[in-house]
Amino acid sequence: MHIQDIFEREKTTFSFEFFPPKSELASEALYSTISELEEYDPHFVSVTYGAGGSTRELTNDLVVRLKNTTTLDPIPHLTCVCHRESDIEEILSRYASEGVANILALGGDPPRDLTNYNKADDAFQQAADLVRYIRNFSGHPDSRGFGIGVAGFPEGHPGTPNRLKEMDYLKAKVDEGADYIVTQLFFHNDDFHDFRDRCSLAGINIPILAGIMPVTTTKGMERMADLAAGARFPAKLLRALNRAGDDPASVEKVGIHYATEQCSDLLEKEVSGIHFYTLNKSHATREIYANLGLKHPAP
Ligand SMILES: Cc1cc2nc3c(=O)[nH]c(=O)nc-3n(C[C@H](O)[C@H](O)[C@H](O)COP(=O)(O)OP(=O)(O)OC[C@H]3O[C@@H](n4cnc5c(N)ncnc54)[C@H](O)[C@@H]3O)c2cc1C
Repeated sequence: MHIQDIFEREKTTFSFEFFPPKSELASEALYSTISELEEYDPHFVSVTYGAGGSTRELTNDLVVRLKNTTTLDPIPHLTCVCHRESDIEEILSRYASEGVANILALGGDPPRDLTNYNKADDAFQQAADLVRYIRNFSGHPDSRGFGIGVAGFPEGHPGTPNRLKEMDYLKAKVDEGADYIVTQLFFHNDDFHDFRDRCSLAGINIPILAGIMPVTTTKGMERMADLAAGARFPAKLLRALNRAGDDPASVEKVGIHYATEQCSDLLEKEVSGIHFYTLNKSHATREIYANLGLKHPAP
């Protein structure tokens, strides 16, 4: 469903993020997660795009499979990195013909293993350029074209230390035609609330969905700290994790409890949506739903 129609109907959206599996085993695990989460009837699910387009086919395959074999409404991520205009046109045409309604348009992480990567070769330098291109793409069956999401960074993006300029760049994505913002994970809700206020002051009035990633393992948290560079881990969370020590079940409990409190506060403050980074697992998300007393299908 076009994201504008989803927001028209729903006061708060609930959505889940998956990444395309790279092995048979990972694939089986993901499809078991998907069948467990399908009954929660999320308003959409999103599928990531590997750094530098490394999962181009895998992302497309997962999106098509979700669309054709489940009740889920998949939103593919798409990035500028390593792509020519013709690549992007081909990908958009494919998604349009498969009836995909929305795209999350991103700058993209630079490929870690490509030593000869030169950003200047990319057809689209910033996500705003990609948003403009998708907005002008005329091959979609919906007369509005694709619904478009973009990324937002409540704690700031490491590439732009000047937070005033960063807000101008976010505004540029919105002015080019973005319909909604999904945020990077964060652990201090005050960062999210302040980001929402700053967006409002900048004249950004589209829905802002809060990205929530419960800590489920210590290793996972370390990976998160690396991937979401700059993410702040509050002392309150770290203290609780220290108390849990090296007992994996207790660590997961702490992470779920912390994320539940975050979600509860966000709902209290009328967040437009909560987007769960599931890491292709269902347990934490299901526990948070239960703790919050959220009905499924989601209200
Ligand atoms: C919800 C979410 C999902 C993500 N999914 C993926 C994924 O699937 N695959 C992936 O590879 N990465 C993904 N990422 C990571 C993201 O691609 C990177 O963090 C990237 O560096 C920033 O993406 P962006 O879309 O904000 O890019 P942009 O908006 O292009 O911004 C990138 C940097 O450039 C700066 N900037 C923007 N415009 C200008 C300008 N005109 N002049 C100078 N500087 C400018 C910004 O402030 C920022 O520092 C995701 C991030 C989020 C929050």
